[in-house]
Amino acid sequence: MRQSQLFPKTRKEAPKDAESINHKLLVRGGFIDQLMSGSWTLLPLGFRVVSKINQIIREEMNAIGAQEMLMPLLHPKEIWSETGRWDKANEIMYKLKDVRKKEYVLSFTHEEIVMDLLRKNTKSYQDLPVAVYHFSTKFRNEPRARSGILRGREFMMKDLYSAHVSEEDMLSYYEKVKEAYAKIFIRLGFNFKVVEASGGVFTDRHTHEFQVLDANGEDTIFACDTCNYAINKEIFEGKVGETCPKCKKGKIEKLNGLVEVGNIFPLGTWYAERMRVYFTDEEGKKKPIWFASYGIGPTRVMGTLVEVNNDEKGIIWPTAVSPFDIHLIELPGAKNADKIYKELKESGTDVLWDDRDVPAGEKFAEADLIGIPVRLVISEKTGEKIEWKERTSEKSELLSFEELLARLGK
Ligand code: ATP
Ligand code: MG
Repeated sequence: MRQSQLFPKTRKEAPKDAESINHKLLVRGGFIDQLMSGSWTLLPLGFRVVSKINQIIREEMNAIGAQEMLMPLLHPKEIWSETGRWDKANEIMYKLKDVRKKEYVLSFTHEEIVMDLLRKNTKSYQDLPVAVYHFSTKFRNEPRARSGILRGREFMMKDLYSAHVSEEDMLSYYEKVKEAYAKIFIRLGFNFKVVEASGGVFTDRHTHEFQVLDANGEDTIFACDTCNYAINKEIFEGKVGETCPKCKKGKIEKLNGLVEVGNIFPLGTWYAERMRVYFTDEEGKKKPIWFASYGIGPTRVMGTLVEVNNDEKGIIWPTAVSPFDIHLIELPGAKNADKIYKELKESGTDVLWDDRDVPAGEKFAEADLIGIPVRLVISEKTGEKIEWKERTSEKSELLSFEELLARLGK
């Protein structure tokens, strides 16, 4: 991509109302644009990052046998009345009426819709288990839609749903998803904890939240300093310093959670009983389907990555989700810029080529703001060689084109 054609240009100033780091840096860098409170456009750079996050999620979902599909966002009132959530979840729902006075809600989650699919398509135990997911927009009337893209009123979610013949089968798949989520967050480079939380209104079982840790985080998590036990403050009943109830060795310490990036729910038979979703077991008996749901917010993930990977100059993307692999910066007197660009692209490298006629200092400042982890500079000074500089290092090296390809593993 030629930077001269990239839409839009970066901005020197953050919007006046921006409070959070992700809001300031993502808007200045040209990754997102705010339409109104809680409502964001993913601009080309932001869309690239979210697409890379989605691809990591997709790979880990497919690896545990989940199937991708796509469900509608406009839902009829009737289906939400079957579980009583039309009334119970009233506060977060965006409801609307059409000209014939028929009532709808814009999707804030999809349990009822998946249950309806299961009801139509699952007859016997042989049709189970089922695990399906999609990436789609969720609408929630969040009371305080601040924190930049961390909390949208319209945001992206990957939601997975699984259906099973027994509690045992549900819980064993639940553990698989928990591991898959942990793999995703490791690939994204997060320092996180899997935290036990209450199930809220819709399940008696504990759920699990994936909380990103950060010294500046405002949430409190209690965790063992030795094993992976962690619990949120709403349900923790012990004291800091006492022995861990799980491993009986470590001590409980207090950690700061910055934000929840994923949440998984072992829901049980609550939905099946209300929506009459039954299967016949091996003995011909009718039984309710066991159900669980699992969510990750890719747009929140992008914002969180910026919150934890930045410095005074701008964003520092982890390689796995950087909008481009390389930022090629052409300065006056550079030789072969278009040839280097073309050959890098042919080697399968995603390159942002700063081909603009602007001062070097401005180019470097913008490159720091956008945050691509590797910068290549070509100028009169570098001659036939290419200068390699990483976003997080002050050092730079001169490489030949062959050395560069080898460094990139091409
Ligand atoms: P929170 O408690 O942070 O408001 P939640 O518990 O209501 O979130 P879930 O229903 O568990 O959210 O949604 C699953 C995932 O979707 C969350 O872990 C988060 O990554 C993402 N998510 C939820 N609400 C939002 C939002 N308003 N904006 C962006 N992402 C969100
Ligand atoms: Mg949650």
